[in-house]
Amino acid sequence: APTLAVVGRPNVGKSTLVNRLIGRREAVVQDVPGVTRDRVSHDALWRGRRFTVVDTGGWDPMASGLQAEVTAQAERAMQTSDAVLVVVDASVGATETEDAIAKVLRRSKRPVILAVNKVDDERAEADAAALWSLGLGEPIAVSGLHGRGSGDLLDAVLEALPTAPEEFVGSGGGPRRVALIGRPNVGKSSLLNKLTGESRSVVHAVAGTTVDPVDSLVEIDGQLWRFVDTAGLRRRVNQAKGMEYYASLRTQTALESAEVAIALIDSSTPITEQDQRVISMVIDSGRALVIALNKADLVDADRRAEVEDEVLRDLARVAWAQRINISAQSGRGVHRLAPAMTRALESWDRRIPTGRLNSWLGELIAATPPPVRGGKQPRVLFATQASNRPPTFVLFTTGFLEAGYRRFIERRLREDFEFTGSPVRVNVRVRE
Ligand code: GDP
Repeated sequence: APTLAVVGRPNVGKSTLVNRLIGRREAVVQDVPGVTRDRVSHDALWRGRRFTVVDTGGWDPMASGLQAEVTAQAERAMQTSDAVLVVVDASVGATETEDAIAKVLRRSKRPVILAVNKVDDERAEADAAALWSLGLGEPIAVSGLHGRGSGDLLDAVLEALPTAPEEFVGSGGGPRRVALIGRPNVGKSSLLNKLTGESRSVVHAVAGTTVDPVDSLVEIDGQLWRFVDTAGLRRRVNQAKGMEYYASLRTQTALESAEVAIALIDSSTPITEQDQRVISMVIDSGRALVIALNKADLVDADRRAEVEDEVLRDLARVAWAQRINISAQSGRGVHRLAPAMTRALESWDRRIPTGRLNSWLGELIAATPPPVRGGKQPRVLFATQASNRPPTFVLFTTGFLEAGYRRFIERRLREDFEFTGSPVRVNVRVRE
């Protein structure tokens, strides 16, 4: 779900407002001036759309090193969110802190919603209007206490948030989203630890107080990735009973919020049915895929030959995905994951112009026409790419195309346009 960061000085009524946003009455957390606490995130639902509200700690203007801290907090909040809600107290107005926050937010290019709280009656409306001066757009007057204006505020929030991950990622939005998946004990936590351990600039953020608790931000070679739904990985709970059920539930949720999956396989032991189920889930999800064959340090020459056979046999369905040998423990090969993800996402995002697609198709069909069926030769009239993420094509034909021929077209599409790491879907529409 898209994420909204809520920021503001202590005592502006941030928590009360957050409760309004998430539809809850009791105070979730008290603001303690001068104390930065962990971020708390909540699920919110409005007009059928889900989003996550991240309540950041209060900013104390009296704390030393104010400017630096405010800037750092605001920047961290923005990095991990799709939009930022700033709460200002109408009875106090804009202080130095608000000015500082506003400056950072204007630079961030993130959508900003300005809520002016404690507008409990008509008279306070004028105080709210005065906050146009912050340069953050229209001040929305609300009363967290009485609920006044909260519908308008929620509408403004929805307007600012992207409707689906597909619609904002890659177009200047946040870091690309990765699902780290695999059956229990393949080394997911070890890999996440390795990645976060080597990520200099964000480690403290991950281990400490600031990142949305369910995701991990990881910087690799200067680029930020968002590993989704990793909370359960970092704080490992031993669920002996129902372990597999929880594992597959986690896989499902992680895939839903991700764009690319790293599917971990323990290459020191044979590929299992459970590995196959994880792969099936990726295929169904339509996400880009990188396969990491982990525990390479335990694989000797004999086992290596077996692994190759197993991969050819058991992973034939995802032959299009890059396979990387890694050791999450030693770190060997781990640096090859990010380039593989980048390549997979490039494929996943790719759009082939219709003209180019059809001249390619014309040549392909001239060289290899579809097989005759029932005495008739179906003709392929035209093709178009209906969507990307994943690339989905529609072929218009005069008759039924055999599955083998469809697969042939799909394979050639993949090879000729280099859709490495991404599923490619081909649908056929018969025109009478
Ligand atoms: P998860 O359940 O997928 O998160 O798996 P863990 O990360 O907890 O790893 C399961 C076990 O495999 C642990 O004992 C790890 O130390 C071990 N392990 C993980 N990666 C490697 C590796 O690359 N090499 C070796 N030898 N052991 C590993």
